[in-house]
Amino acid sequence: MFDSLKKKFNVAGEEPGGTTTKPDISREKSAELYEKAKTFFPGGVNSPVRAFKSVYGTPLFIEKGDGSYIWDADGNQFIDFCCSWGPLILGHNHPKVREKVIEAMQNGMSFGAPTALENELAELIIKHNKFIEKLRFVSSGTEAVMSAIRLARGYTKRDKILKFEGCYHGHSDSLLVKAGSGLVTFGETSSAGVPKSFADETIVVALNDKEALQKAFDEFKDQIAAVIIEPIPANNGLLLQEKDFLQFLREICTKNETLLIFDEVISGFRIGFEGAAAHYQVKPDIITYGKIIGGGLPVGAYGSTAKIMNNISPDGAVYQAGTLSGNPVAMAAGIAQLSELLRMGFYRDLNNKTEEFTSAIQRFATARTYKFKVFTIGSIFWFAFTEKEAIRRADEIDAASMEKFKKFHRELINRGIYLGPSGYEVGFISSAHTKIDLERAKRAIFDSLEVVFKPNQTPSGK
Ligand SMILES: *Cc1c(COP(=O)(O)O)cnc(C)c1O
Repeated sequence: MFDSLKKKFNVAGEEPGGTTTKPDISREKSAELYEKAKTFFPGGVNSPVRAFKSVYGTPLFIEKGDGSYIWDADGNQFIDFCCSWGPLILGHNHPKVREKVIEAMQNGMSFGAPTALENELAELIIKHNKFIEKLRFVSSGTEAVMSAIRLARGYTKRDKILKFEGCYHGHSDSLLVKAGSGLVTFGETSSAGVPKSFADETIVVALNDKEALQKAFDEFKDQIAAVIIEPIPANNGLLLQEKDFLQFLREICTKNETLLIFDEVISGFRIGFEGAAAHYQVKPDIITYGKIIGGGLPVGAYGSTAKIMNNISPDGAVYQAGTLSGNPVAMAAGIAQLSELLRMGFYRDLNNKTEEFTSAIQRFATARTYKFKVFTIGSIFWFAFTEKEAIRRADEIDAASMEKFKKFHRELINRGIYLGPSGYEVGFISSAHTKIDLERAKRAIFDSLEVVFKPNQTPSGK
């Protein structure tokens, strides 16, 4: 009670300086719900970043979403740039998705037997994706990646995998591994509970570093089953890779008979329908999907050529299964969402809108010589408090700059703009974000940047 009062009247927490800071919005109900949630869940949440540990305050509990907007338990309205961490490319509660889901639900929720809806979603994907001949549906991105890794190991009959520092691939054991010191390293576990012997099978190198990659292949000749990469790394800032590096990666994998896995859980259906593979014109051997593919319901998938996919059970020896895999309600949501994405000009409009938005923000910051850069591709953006023109590796991110993000985030929340609660997270624009929404958001972003960089002056009101 005292805490939430303090929050309400903005007397607690780090005091932002100056008169330009907006008073904190009321967060009383969210704070109460969070107190209760902490008695049920570790950290009060069911996924860690939701806990607001690296920004001001406690999590906002969301009551509803519609289009580009969300409302929290205290009735505050926000323009949402988190979009459920990417899945909602059509915005919240899109009528086409909602109607299709309701229609599917009339027939029951789950059968554990095949339904025509699985065929329908698979056909929609395969028909419009030249990189995939067969796929398998699962229920999350983590599961898709975990299964893709097993498939690669089963297919190549090798054990080691190689990943890049700064890419996230879900929370399976083999991938909760970070770089040790040195150019090429065996991974060190990045979570308690992951056996060291698992980490020993995962090699970790820096992104955008051909030399390190070459060295890894020299050192572990004929041992690497797969290289996995987010071709557009978007889970630790937005670490845009050079096309040249991705091509090198393709070539070195081919030469060593190592499978190349593109983890397109974010970039799939986001950077165009065929994702990053089509954007860079680099053909991976296996692709993993999640997020957008399920229209906001839990769906993941992994796909490849028929030849490789036929190694999956029951055709092949690589076991993988799921009680709720291909769930009809989730399939329906995916079908409705992906059908919208196939409309002429969908991506052109979305990407142009994003480009206008991000370039206006960049111009504003540059004109004021703020150390601030907006990195962007497609409808993904990342606000970085940096002077660097490019950031391509995890170790190029300045951890100290996150203090600025923290202030920025608080100012934005108080101005009705919701960004994911960490400076390492990217933002997403959906087709539901209107020009007016983006104008409003821009103004809030300008004012918030002024508070962050010039805390004692009056905002321009631009
Ligand atoms: C989100 C994400 C995952 C994990 O997906 P979940 O559905 O959260 O399990 C894996 N890889 C990438 C690239 C992701 O962005």
